[in-house]
Amino acid sequence: MPEGPEIRRAADALADAVQGRVAEQVWFGLPGLKCHEMQLSGRQIKGVETRGKAMLTRFDGGLNIYSHNQLYGRWLIMPAGQRPETNRQLRLAIDNSEHSALLYSASDIMVLNDAELLQHPFLRKLGPDPLQDKLSVKQIEARLSLPQFRRRQLGALLTDQSFIAGIGNYLRCEILFVAGLAPNITMLICGSAQLKRLAEVIDRLIWQSYKTAGITNELKRTEKMMAEGATFEQARFHLFRRAGLPCYVCGTIIVKIKMNSQPTYLCPQCQGVLANAQTSIR
Ligand SMILES: [Zn+2]
Repeated sequence: MPEGPEIRRAADALADAVQGRVAEQVWFGLPGLKCHEMQLSGRQIKGVETRGKAMLTRFDGGLNIYSHNQLYGRWLIMPAGQRPETNRQLRLAIDNSEHSALLYSASDIMVLNDAELLQHPFLRKLGPDPLQDKLSVKQIEARLSLPQFRRRQLGALLTDQSFIAGIGNYLRCEILFVAGLAPNITMLICGSAQLKRLAEVIDRLIWQSYKTAGITNELKRTEKMMAEGATFEQARFHLFRRAGLPCYVCGTIIVKIKMNSQPTYLCPQCQGVLANAQTSIR
């Protein structure tokens, strides 16, 4: 599933095409949304915001299109009136005089006014989105210290969207590796140096992934690997999807465990994995 940085980049591309312009025609593919076409067509789009993995296209008059891409949703920006050849189902089209912004395959789309937005069950539960809300390292540190979060295992906490919105599985694994922390420990047993370090790494990797279209590895290492023939997918991570391969830092073999039903990659050496995590390594 795309994570916060990928959604933010899609939101940037959408904003370039539609922000500040009149949406001359808004079209929905889902029958239940057809009633909103007239309501939105002809209105100016004020902005495109992200809430973690969800996106809000904000129209004047206090109306918004909420969309969540889940696994398959994808935005495509085309010159006005053009449609690509694709088997995907078009779910939303926003046309202005220069661009067509097309959302394919997403099924989680709603039209909500500003008041309804505040009541939306998913949005209400979300924590802050670092890329949208410009969260500081200090603020992340403060969240990590809140009673409801400091007792949680880090591997589960990081992908809990009520903690910080937008962290998915690859960011979780990469953040814990860079911070040198095992996924099964809690903030309760961490000292203030570890707390500071984790907050700093959360901030840094989310922004780096956003700016580089998904690289969480050391940038110099990725650059060198790609110059030597590695693909982007092979070079972008420290350890995500690298089970059985040696850690770049210490040479220990990367292992994959299951945590919260998600594959979790770790370096037992660099992350000082506790015994009970090692027993569940498969
Ligand atoms: Zn290592």
